[in-house]
Amino acid sequence: MARNIGSRYTAHQILGRGSAGTVWLGEGPEGPVAIKLLREDLASDEELVGRFVRERTALLGLDHPRVVAVHDLVVDGNDLALVMDLVRGTDLRTRLDRERRLAPAAAVAIAADVADGLAAAHAVGVVHRDVKPENILLDMEGPLGPGGSHPALLTDFGVAKLIDTPRRTRATRIIGTPDYLAPEIVEGLPPRAAVDIYALATVLYELLAGFTPFGGGHPGAVLRRHVTETVVPLPGIPDELWQLIVQCLAKAPASRLRASELAARLRELQPTLRGMPPLDVDEPDAESSCDAGAEADSAYPAAPSAPRRAAVPLVPRATTDSNRDTHTSMRVPGPDELAGGARGTARAPRSPGQRRPGSARHKADAVRRRRITLGVAGIVLVAAIGAGSWLAAGGDDEGAPPQDSKQSAPSQP
Ligand code: ADP
Repeated sequence: MARNIGSRYTAHQILGRGSAGTVWLGEGPEGPVAIKLLREDLASDEELVGRFVRERTALLGLDHPRVVAVHDLVVDGNDLALVMDLVRGTDLRTRLDRERRLAPAAAVAIAADVADGLAAAHAVGVVHRDVKPENILLDMEGPLGPGGSHPALLTDFGVAKLIDTPRRTRATRIIGTPDYLAPEIVEGLPPRAAVDIYALATVLYELLAGFTPFGGGHPGAVLRRHVTETVVPLPGIPDELWQLIVQCLAKAPASRLRASELAARLRELQPTLRGMPPLDVDEPDAESSCDAGAEADSAYPAAPSAPRRAAVPLVPRATTDSNRDTHTSMRVPGPDELAGGARGTARAPRSPGQRRPGSARHKADAVRRRRITLGVAGIVLVAAIGAGSWLAAGGDDEGAPPQDSKQSAPSQP
């Protein structure tokens, strides 16, 4: 059933569903297009619609062969739609689900394409903020590249930012998908270009390993791992490729490569990877990738069939709004979710006036508290001894030794 979108476009059939809406195969004045119809709750949000219109120029201005171009924004009654290039192919998640792991040459070719797209966006000050396999489309009509891989294009530029209106993202919310979130976002810093590099390195790791480096189990645990854990090396991975991944997964954003450097380094590596089969990597078992606390929480059931790909809702019992198990708007986990657990020691949020654990003032406070406790214990002990002596003296007519004799015995040499 055809559906008119504004006066210029017709949507014919659904191509796919995402977290922000449904993507349709459509027709416009210049031929076939892809039309992303935003979810109703987003489309009826006046603030978001206003933002959409204001961001129009930035969204329409990104023109690069590795970026899915947005041609038009349509605001029509209850419909809010993005009209985009139609990519005839599939998204990277579908390919990954089918193949589980990609040969290093193919994985690197895809990552290099995405890095090229990011470089173009970053050059004009646009940060994607939601790089993940679902947002990478493979153009099956494009030429086959190294490792038998079709050209990859990054889609959904600016959508995360649009949805991230101040009202939607009060201090308690963050935008992104837990598995791909850079540590600085978890810590509340504003997302800069380096968050896209971190997410892309996570995607590259996933293409090679079949699972993300820090995913699995409770979403709070996933966020904590981004901040506290070191990435586990993949067996058989060429050293130079591994070093690139490690550098781009650095906790400090400034230590990561820029998108253009990453693209160039990946392309340099390509000839050395030719003919190499997918890595032989064991899936981490579900038990070791889930924190004990998470298993006890029925709101976040562990997914035994997909041990470390656990992009699950961060809001307990939230209804999924897509056919993918990924979310773009999440509640920041509470202190108990972030702190402690088997896998790390991320800091819990502090209340006003509370010292940061480990700080000099925090340590001084602890020493002071310990002294007060010891002082009080000493007073209690002395009082107890005094009372004991008094009882012994008053109540023992046979002259038994006083009860505190043990306490006052001379110490052994
Ligand atoms: P969301 O960002 O809302 O989660 P996506 O952009 O991932 O949604 O789109 C959902 C699906 O729609 C994709 O997985 C893909 O299959 C399809 N799709 C998205 N954009 C296009 C496009 N430009 N051309 C063809 N198919 C597309």
